[in-house]
Amino acid sequence: MYRNTWMEVNLDAIKDNVIRSKEICRKRIIAVLKADAYGCGDSHVARAVLSAGAEMLAVSSMDEALMLRNEGYEGKILILGATEKEDVELLIKEKISVAAYSAAWVDSITKQNCVGLQFHLKIDTGMNRIGFKTIEEAKWALESLLNAGCIAEGIFTHFACADQKDQVETNKQFTRFKEVYEALNYNFPWIHTDNSDATLSFKDELTNACRIGISMYGVNNYDISLRYPISLHTKVIMVKEVDEGERIGYGLTYQAKKKEYIATLPIGYADGFVRKNQGRCVYIDGQYCEVVGRVCMDQVMVRLEKEVPIGTDVEIFGPHIHLEKMAEELDTIPYEVICLISGRVTRTYIWEGENLEENARILKSEIAEVHQS
Ligand SMILES: *Cc1c(COP(=O)(O)O)cnc(C)c1O
Repeated sequence: MYRNTWMEVNLDAIKDNVIRSKEICRKRIIAVLKADAYGCGDSHVARAVLSAGAEMLAVSSMDEALMLRNEGYEGKILILGATEKEDVELLIKEKISVAAYSAAWVDSITKQNCVGLQFHLKIDTGMNRIGFKTIEEAKWALESLLNAGCIAEGIFTHFACADQKDQVETNKQFTRFKEVYEALNYNFPWIHTDNSDATLSFKDELTNACRIGISMYGVNNYDISLRYPISLHTKVIMVKEVDEGERIGYGLTYQAKKKEYIATLPIGYADGFVRKNQGRCVYIDGQYCEVVGRVCMDQVMVRLEKEVPIGTDVEIFGPHIHLEKMAEELDTIPYEVICLISGRVTRTYIWEGENLEENARILKSEIAEVHQS
């Protein structure tokens, strides 16, 4: 790691959060690792959730599923989103389960050899994204796929408003799901409706698994105290004193009101630190420091209350500025903040109390040694 901008992921904390979720829902856990595990690194997060007892992984696409297979994961895996008829042979070979989500999809799949393809029937209970809405459609899809030799591994739906505490919409959706499920009269091994918030709050006797994503990262709307495994950091690379009236950054949008200390940090919108962060604060050595001037692609300037040495750690979010607070200030949700952290931000990992980042440091010194000899 050469650039001093990194995201720390505590895999022990993720593991604890999964164990906690499992204790609360008392069902099997399907860990949702789509989008590279919400930007945290799918193979690392997989290791943590599997050791916590997750029994299935879910992703959004064939590419993501194959990534996990290539990384050596041989267990159960489900693609929640769309798949193509061209993928069927590989899906069967790699034992990857898919969502059966539309009549057109069923048509295209069953027109070819699809014997052994494992599917989870997706029921649309009100969100209007993907899935079968009527009992007739669902029945037809199930029968067509079974007749073609596919294997019905599960049935599921997705809640649109699980974060709303009154659960009015969730109850409606669940009732609808139960209706469809009962009408199908089929013994599905995996029955699952709950995302993170529903896993922590919604109780039912029908389902036997929960799909958790964001709660692994400590975020939930039910005040359940989970651990916060991720934090984003950078370091001060330059500090300068500016006079009253001097202006800062592209467009010179900020003007110093008095003599001020300005620090430059090596993080910008190409790291996922979006331009809307202008005016927000980062945390540096006990101070909350405002982002002054526009956020650049690779750098940003902040105003210090007191001077700090070059190399001082900066917390973008973490123990002093919660991810949820940052998301709120940016008018978005924690999911978007973490998914936008780009690939060039180094991920460091804590696992079984050890800092896996040490590897990068050791490598760095080994390379230095090679250069010297
Ligand atoms: C993303 C996703 C989840 C996980 O949602 P969280 O709110 O992160 O727990 C579960 N199910 C489906 C279908 C999803 O797309």
